[in-house]
Amino acid sequence: MPEIRLNMISRVWVIVAKEKGKKPEDFIVKKIKKRLPELVETCPFCPGNESKTPDEVSRIHDGDGWKIRVVRNKFSKLSEEGERKRWDSGLKKGLNGVGIHELIIESPLHNHATALMSEEHLGNVLQTLRNRFIEVYRDPRVEHVIMFKNNGSAAGTSIEHPLSQIVGIPITPFQIRNRFEGFMRFFDETGDCLLCKTIQDEMNDGARVLLNTEHFLSFIPFAALSAFHIWIFPKRHSGSFADIRPEEIWDLAANLKSTMSMLYHGLNNPDFNFVLRSGNLRSTSSEFIHWYLSILPRVDTATGFEIGTGMHINTLVPEVSAEFLKNVKIPK
Ligand SMILES: [Zn+2]
Ligand SMILES: [Zn+2]
Repeated sequence: MPEIRLNMISRVWVIVAKEKGKKPEDFIVKKIKKRLPELVETCPFCPGNESKTPDEVSRIHDGDGWKIRVVRNKFSKLSEEGERKRWDSGLKKGLNGVGIHELIIESPLHNHATALMSEEHLGNVLQTLRNRFIEVYRDPRVEHVIMFKNNGSAAGTSIEHPLSQIVGIPITPFQIRNRFEGFMRFFDETGDCLLCKTIQDEMNDGARVLLNTEHFLSFIPFAALSAFHIWIFPKRHSGSFADIRPEEIWDLAANLKSTMSMLYHGLNNPDFNFVLRSGNLRSTSSEFIHWYLSILPRVDTATGFEIGTGMHINTLVPEVSAEFLKNVKIPK
């Protein structure tokens, strides 16, 4: 019989197909991916084409060149100019579409997959994300900042160059608010942070843990939304990514590299989305908000059932996902 598991953090019910489920090997990307070159002359993010992204916000230098650049997104859906003005006429409510949208060009190498970056380089990317996270929040029109990465066409991007994105939006979306309200209710009832509790629970159970490093735990959620859905939680309770300490950045870089390597080598470089969920700068001292990373390999597709119910169907048992990834041989 299938199980219906509750994801306590996103409050999503997940049907876990047990007997009729698939095998981990069924999710290995079959299509032969073309080998990407290190440099593509027509790519606006490759070195030599910096004039195509003129609104540079910051860079980490590398001799005459650069290791990481941050630029304004030319194709931002939000306008950087203008006021945050709400309007309201009966059932028609809204506000001006102002906000900040920046791109973090993670590497000069066009084909630099996250799994193949050095820990040092990934640490620099994370440090850059943290700096921009704090800066974007300084804009008084920004209510919430999200950071994400879309990798591959199944994850919603045709851009091959390694990019992460940071968007400061003038509202707090309901999805975020609902999650934080859920964390608050759990805290009210138990006096505990739901994520701190989850870390303890996963470490005691052990069946879904991928990697337990000094400051971070990477694991498959008990009610993973889809096959190989991964969470990385900081072990130290903290409501905001802004609060990450230098030693934690380096540990996260190591953890992230190993976790992404399991996916890259185990599933043949699947498309994925990566989302960093965090409270704002004032949430640092919140007792119930706890920031975290979510990685969703795009190896399965949502169907009408999922869109229509908000439930998810996971065709691979989470414990089987974890067992498979833990045993991936990662070339040195
Ligand atoms: Zn490129
Ligand atoms: Zn916590």
